[in-house]
Amino acid sequence: MKVAWTGWLCVDCAMVVANGDTSGIGDVGREAEVLAGVERLGPHACIGDDSQSFSWIRCDCCLTRLAGERLELVVLEESTPLVTTEPAWADRARATGRVVWTPEDGWID
Ligand SMILES: [Zn+2]
Repeated sequence: MKVAWTGWLCVDCAMVVANGDTSGIGDVGREAEVLAGVERLGPHACIGDDSQSFSWIRCDCCLTRLAGERLELVVLEESTPLVTTEPAWADRARATGRVVWTPEDGWID
């Protein structure tokens, strides 16, 4: 996976993105906002290394501008699946009559 984009999370959203923990929110309406935001972010959202102890930056999850701590949001995108193709040296091995690897059969003596 590689980074698709980065942004900022408020503490409420960061707790849900990191742990799925809504216990610190304490308000049903607010919890719904946060959960909707986390759902919009998709399954590959995680916490980055950066943070700001105090900021008015909009949370990229719930969209709040309430002042407070912000933690870096990192959204990953799925890379192409691991391709199991014949390694580059297989042609050489085949030419010399040595062990060969094929995608269908794996290693062939
Ligand atoms: Zn938020």
